[in-house]
This record gives sequence, structure tokens and C-alpha cells, in this order.
Amino acid sequence: MAIVESILDIPVQDPPEEEFCSVDLTWTKFRNSEREDDVALIPYERVDAFIIGECSNVECPTRFHIERGRKRSLGSLKEYKNDEYLEYRMYWCSFGPENYGEGGGVLPSRRYRLNTRNRAARPQSMRGCTCHFVVKRLYARPSLALIIYNYSVRRHVNKSGFVCHGPLDRDAIGPGAKKIPYICNEIQQQTMSMIYLGIPEENVLEKHIEGIQRYCGSNAKVNSLASQYVHKLGMIIKRSTHELDLDDQASIRMWVERNKKTIFFYQDTSEAAPFILGIQTEWQLQQMIRFGHRSLIAVDSTFGIKRLKYPLCTLLVFDSRKHALPVAWVITRSFAKPDMSKWMKALHDRARSVEPGWKVSGFLIDDAAAETDPIRDIFCCPVLFSLWRVRRSWLRNIVKKCNNIEVQREIFKRLGKIVYSIWDGVDTFASLEELAQDFVDQTTFMEYFKASWVPKIEMWLSTIGTLPLASQEASGAIEAYHVKLKAKLFDDSHLGALQRVDWLVHKLTTELHSSYWLDRYADESGSFQNVKEEYIASTSWYRALQIPDSAVTLDDQDHLFAKVLSQRDSNLPRLVWNPGSEFAFCDCAWSMQGNLCKHVIKVNMICENRKSYQPSMSYQSYKEILMNLWKKPMDDSVSLDLSMAWTHHMLDQIQKLVELTSSSDIGTVVNNLPLKWVSKKGRTYVGKPSSTLPLPSSSKGMKTAAVRKKNRKRKRLSRLR
Ligand SMILES: [Zn+2]
Ligand SMILES: [Zn+2]
Repeated sequence: MAIVESILDIPVQDPPEEEFCSVDLTWTKFRNSEREDDVALIPYERVDAFIIGECSNVECPTRFHIERGRKRSLGSLKEYKNDEYLEYRMYWCSFGPENYGEGGGVLPSRRYRLNTRNRAARPQSMRGCTCHFVVKRLYARPSLALIIYNYSVRRHVNKSGFVCHGPLDRDAIGPGAKKIPYICNEIQQQTMSMIYLGIPEENVLEKHIEGIQRYCGSNAKVNSLASQYVHKLGMIIKRSTHELDLDDQASIRMWVERNKKTIFFYQDTSEAAPFILGIQTEWQLQQMIRFGHRSLIAVDSTFGIKRLKYPLCTLLVFDSRKHALPVAWVITRSFAKPDMSKWMKALHDRARSVEPGWKVSGFLIDDAAAETDPIRDIFCCPVLFSLWRVRRSWLRNIVKKCNNIEVQREIFKRLGKIVYSIWDGVDTFASLEELAQDFVDQTTFMEYFKASWVPKIEMWLSTIGTLPLASQEASGAIEAYHVKLKAKLFDDSHLGALQRVDWLVHKLTTELHSSYWLDRYADESGSFQNVKEEYIASTSWYRALQIPDSAVTLDDQDHLFAKVLSQRDSNLPRLVWNPGSEFAFCDCAWSMQGNLCKHVIKVNMICENRKSYQPSMSYQSYKEILMNLWKKPMDDSVSLDLSMAWTHHMLDQIQKLVELTSSSDIGTVVNNLPLKWVSKKGRTYVGKPSSTLPLPSSSKGMKTAAVRKKNRKRKRLSRLR
């Protein structure tokens, strides 16, 4: 093989076949300063034909997934080498890179565990395959793609050099396993999600077959194999257990060993360091990159601090419907700065390794005791505070500890007043003293409040006063996640397991993950109409938007209460006490459980537009920031010009945001945007549940690829039968 040092000396190959593979190409040894690789140069528009061909390898049929990707925009480099990339994609055989069989020196054992993140054809199929290649779309010549194989042996072998899947694999699992039609990860994830959510097998099968038929047509053999597959998957899921070992710690260690890609940080308990486990599936990473970029990340911190062995902290993004979507879980008891910094940095680096320009605009916390320095240092963004946790905690305890509803709503209102007074310079302790005197007969509640809140109330109020405050929509969304998590984890059947970390991990990565995956999938694909509807209606904010203004009547004189007519039963008005405040109290059942209900949100939406009502906390906090901005700079200097320019820039951005949110036709807004929007589209593509086969994103390529794919699928099936 000739060794070439300039990419300009490599000929472009364009095989005539509809699809082609590495065998059809002539490979050149290409040497640059760092390394020597086998490369071939093809037209960029033939990349999908090559990938399809590479998948249809008769000895080792497989699929390739994108393991890593990078992108830059044209014009971003002033100087560049001939082999610099415009787009960089590393494709890896879906039977790797992980090896679920333990060891690796020996052929994989048969003890496999199911994993939701598994993208390969068979659930048991992560077998440590090392086969991978890189496709570089060239910066200097975007119409060409350079294919790079780092190993000169283009074979599907594991680290030890054994063929690890396909007909030549001596350890293939079970009779007939090799003939099962290859099922793309999206369908597999869908099927697994449905099984985890307890949907009956026949419905799961129906959807599963529907999915397969989209790319391999209908036939009895395929259907019967699909039925076996679904049944088998169901059995594996049913038998899979969180308890990999009787000892929880050992069990977790094993889980960590087998799920390396689902973990972004792990620190085992030792004398010097506390236990920390940071979990994030590949899909969650994609969602974090997609919805967190130039947007917000929120935390539901200290979940289960009393009931679980270690509390759970969830990182959330707001998805396209502004619902809270969990994108990472951290299980640890340590809230110390150094520990927090460690996992946050790992998480941030992980996102950056996929999308170098990834940037968060704001970070919402819900605990006044939380360390904010690591957030500012690592995410380099402002920290916002959400009132949802304190509101919920107060409301729940008031309802639980006071019997009379008039007392309940009055105490809640008074507490709200104390929080609102942070901007008025009112003496908090005098107000608290007054509260204690006025409700001296409410001993249970006052004792609770004195023990749990009075010692730290100053810290909470000062945090609320210093940090910008998050909106009611955000609070409602975080709370909706919290409530769902609670329902999934604390149903009575698991009381014995709450102290096991392996159980918590299992629950999160199977049931909860599946449920959110299916919600998003249903919304984006339009299938599973009932799942979609339920998902859309899962926040109070959304439900509030469904209430017509005419259903709300305000008491305009004293502003004491508002009435909301029920949509189902108009004889049953809901009474919202203290309207226009985050601390409004509604008498519906949902609110009596401590939740921010749709009635409160609806009433507050209406009050917001009336001058006689005070603005909400988040609005006041926003105004405070603007007032501060207005007071700077002090003189008519060049800094004033600069401030003006920056402010104008900011105004422009906010203007676009408002346009986007309030527009009924996003298309017109997008059309008016500058070209920059294109890069956002690329990100959306990355974020979508990955399709059957990751293909280059040119739409023309996609269409022809789909046709070819279909043909190929038929061809391969006939080859296999
Ligand atoms: Zn392979
Ligand atoms: Zn209500």
C-alpha cells in the first residue's frame, strides 16, 4: 500500500454500486504529523451508501452508530490544513465498544443484563466490538468525505482479537439468534419503554411490528420472529433485577462496571471520600445538549432525604413544551463544594465533548443552603432561585397541621407576606413574632415552624432577596417532575428497597427513563396519542391555560379571594385565597396536597394584567435587575455607549424570545431570523431520538437513503433466511 503525505494526492473513488463497503474501495496509507491511517476519499453524498454497505457485511451484519461527532461552520477557520474537518463523525459498530460479558480476555460469558441505553440490534449484544471508522467532511472541500480506519484490520473483533458477533462468532447466543431481523435502537427503546411501563404484550407487539415493517415490509416470518423477540425481551425485563449482589455496595459496583456509558461520575465510598454516583444515559445527554443550550437547567435537589439511603438530586431541562425533563441524576449525601464541583465538571465536560459550544444561560436552584460557587465556576452562568420547594413544604405542613381551612389560608397568606417583604426592609423577626402570637393556638404547626424554619429563615430570605427568582411556570414544571418521581419511587410495593442504592438506580434507569423517553417520542413522532395527550397535560401551567378567562371572577374590592368555575362541574367553584401571589391558597384537592394547582396559576395570570394587584415575586425580581441596570453607569462616558450597545443587544435577544413564545406560527419568526438559526437545526437533529441509521443530514441524501435502505433491508433478509 502506498504511503501518501498530502491528501491532495489521494484519488476520489465513486463506486458504481448502489451501496458499497470497505472491500470495494482502495485504501491508502495517509501519514500526517501525528499518525498513520488507512483512508479513502469519496463524494460526501455517497457517505450513506458506504455506511449501509458496511452494515451489510455478510460475515458480520451490524449497524453503526455515531459514537462521537463534531461540527464547525464554514468560515470559522482562517487557517486550516487540507484534512481539517467541517463535520467529524466517528461511527462505531453497535456491538461495541462496551463489552457486557465480563472480563474481555475470554469470550463473553452468557450472563447478560438488559440495559435501556443499548443501541445495538439485540439487547444482549454489547460484545466489545472494536470495529469503527471516522467520516470527515473536509473543510477545504465540503463535497468530499475522508473515511478513516484507524486499524488496518477492518474486522469485527473484540480487544482480544476474537470475532465477536455474526455467523463466525462461536459464542452467538441461542438458536436462531443470528437470524433475528436487526431492530433499530429507536424501536428497541420504544418496545422496552412500553414493557417497562406495564403495557400488555399484545399492544407492545403490535407497535413493535408496525415499527419493523416501516423498513422491512410485512411477512409472516418477520412477524413470528418479532413476536418471539418481544416475548423474550419481556421475560428478560421481568427477570432482570436490581439486586446484582446481596450486598448493596457490591451490587452498585457491578452495575457501574457494566454501565460505564451511563455514568458521568462515580466515586465509591472510602474513608477519605463520600459516595457519589452521577447517572446520565446517552439519550439524556442528547436532551441536555439540545434543550439546555442557551437555556436553563434546574435542579430538584435533596429528594428523599429522609427515606432513601442517599438523597437524589435531579438535573432538569425545559423541553419544547417547557416541561421539566430529567437529564442527569446524582446520588450522594455530600453537598460539599469540592464534591459538587467534581460531578458538575464531569457533566459539563461530557456535554462539551459532544458539542464544544454548549452553553447554559441560567441555573435554577431550589435550596437556599446549596453551594452556588461551583455552578458559577463551571457553568459560568447566573444562578436563579425557585420558590417551589419552600412553597410546597409550607403548604403541605399547614394543611397537615392545622385543621381549619380559614386558618390554613390565613397562615399561608401571612407567610407569603413575609417573603414578599424582602424588598420593603421589614423586620422579619418582628413579623414572625406577630405570626406566632396571632396563631398561638395552632401549636402543632407553630412548633414545627419554629423548629424547622425559624433558625434558617434568614438564610432563605436573604437567598430569595439576592438571587433572581424563577417563574411560576418553571416552579410548576419542576414540581410536576417531583410529584411523578415520588409516585414512581414511593409506591408501597418497594418499602423494603428504599435503603438500597441499586434499587434506586434500577428504577431511575428503567421505569422513569422509559416513561420520559416515550413521552418525548410520542410528542415528536405523533404516535401514541394518549401518551402524548397525558404528557402535554402534565403541568399545572398547561392545565391553567385551558381555563377560559370567563371562568374566573375576582373580588375587586378587597382582593381577598377569587373564584374559578370548574370546567366539569360549574356548580363547584374553587376558592383561591390571596390571589395574585405565589402564596395563594386554593381549596381543590390537588392544592390541598401541597401542589401548585391550575386554579392558582390561572388566577395569577389574570391578576398579572391588573394594576391593582401586586406583581409576582419573579416579576418583581426581574424589575429589580432592570432598575439596577438603569442606575449604571453613572456618567456620560464611553462606558455609557458600551452599556447602551450591550443593553441593546440583550433587548434584541429578549425580543426574539418573546416573539418566539407568543407566535402561533413559528415558521414566520424563523424565516425572519439571520442565518445563524441553521446551526440550531443541526442541534435538533442531534437531539432527536436517533433514527434507524445515523445518516448525514442532507435532506436529499436522506430520501434516497431511505429508498436504498428499504431495498437493502429486503435483500439482507432474503440473504439471511
Ligand atoms: Zn462489530
Ligand atoms: Zn386549585
